[in-house]
Formats: sequence, C-alpha cells, structure tokens
Amino acid sequence: MANIILMGPPGAGKGTQAKRIVDAFKLPHISTGDMFREAISQGTPLGLQAKAIIERGDLVPDELTIGLVKERLSRDDCAEGFLLDGFPRTIPQAEALKVLGPEIGRAIDLVIDISVPDEELVRRIAGRRVCPKCGASYHITDMKPKKEGICDRCGAELIQRKDDNAESLKVRLDNYYKQTAPLIDFYEKEGLYHHFDGMVGADNLFKEIQTLLEASK
Ligand code: AMP
Repeated sequence: MANIILMGPPGAGKGTQAKRIVDAFKLPHISTGDMFREAISQGTPLGLQAKAIIERGDLVPDELTIGLVKERLSRDDCAEGFLLDGFPRTIPQAEALKVLGPEIGRAIDLVIDISVPDEELVRRIAGRRVCPKCGASYHITDMKPKKEGICDRCGAELIQRKDDNAESLKVRLDNYYKQTAPLIDFYEKEGLYHHFDGMVGADNLFKEIQTLLEASK
C-alpha cells in the first residue's frame, strides 16, 4: 500500500476521510493533531509545550513536530504504508520529510488535498463535535451521531474542541493560507499532488479517493 499525505484547511473533512481510508486500506493513521491532543491530555512535557499554542490556533514549532513524526514513522507498523493527516503543514516540515522519508524507507507516494470554500469551513467548524477517545468527527446538523452526544464508534461522550471557536479558527485559517497552502505548489512540482473538491459530500469524496488509491496499489 502507499505512503500518503492528506492535506486541506481545518474543516475540509480530513479527519472523516482519514478514518475511512485507514479502515478500508488497513493503514496506520498518523494525525499530528491527535498526537498533540493525546500528549496534552496525558500532561507530558510535549503536551505542556503545545497546549496554549494549539488552543489559540497557532502551529506547534517545526522542530517539535518533525521530531514527533520522525519517531512515529520509524515504527514497524508504517513499513507497509501509512496515512499522514495534518503533517506536513509548513515548507520546512515538507523539506524535512523529503529527506527523512527515503532515509527510513518511507518516501511519500501521493498527496491528497481537499479544498472547501472559507464560509463553509467556518460553518463546519462551528458545528463540529469530536470524540476525545477515538478522534471521530461529527456535525450537529450534517453528520449527527446515532445517539445525541455519543460517539458511534466507541461510545465516548462527544466534545467541542477548544480550538473550534471563531477566534482560533481565524488564526488557523490564516496560518493555513500563509504556511500550508504553499505545499500545493511544492507537491505539484514533486509530481505527487492530487486535488479533490471537498463539497461533493463525504460519501462521494471517499469514492473518488478510493478510486485513486485502488489505482495506485
Ligand atoms: P488538527 O487536529 O490537524 O486540526 O491539529 C490541531 C492543532 O495541532 C493545529 O491547529 C496545530 O496547532 C497543531 N498541529 C497539528 N499538526 C501540526 C503540524 N504538522 N505542525 C504544526 N502544528 C500542528
């Protein structure tokens, strides 16, 4: 299977598609956001450093993030492919991965980018609820859980992320356009880039992504 990067602005549907991709293709799901949230909830030194940065919507410094991903990608479960969700988010991170990947036998095969207009991102983030245990995402009107407030996958109580508020979202979107959007050009030049329209609905989007992944098996 392939070594995949999933990218897109906050609210594009990365988390939802990531869950479907890793279930269908049996890949480890490497979400730097989930790893940071886990570190925060466990109160590790990394979590303590990252907490305030994440809550205000800023990016965690590259050295910390790259170190975290390097350790995670080196593990045995990534030998047959993986899905990186939310990394890289800056050009220095992408440059580091370009060197690190081949060094540890984990070169990137393809990049999936999901785009959605800003007004829709704002609407989606305002109504987003997440499972703190398994990371599944829901929406209060568009993607309701079967039982209100409870995760369909693992039964935990759903929460609203601390950074899912209007103020932090503004910072996150700003960071996205300034720091992450330049990766589109970077990966186009590498010949790895695949664009998807995030407005076609979660099921249709997954079908399109699945077709690409089946073809590159
Ligand atoms: P996410 O769950 O992907 O939306 O990530 C939540 C937050 O974690 C982001 O807003 C950043 O503060 C931080 N974060 C996640 N991935 C990265 C990354 N690759 N580089 C820097 N910060 C990150």
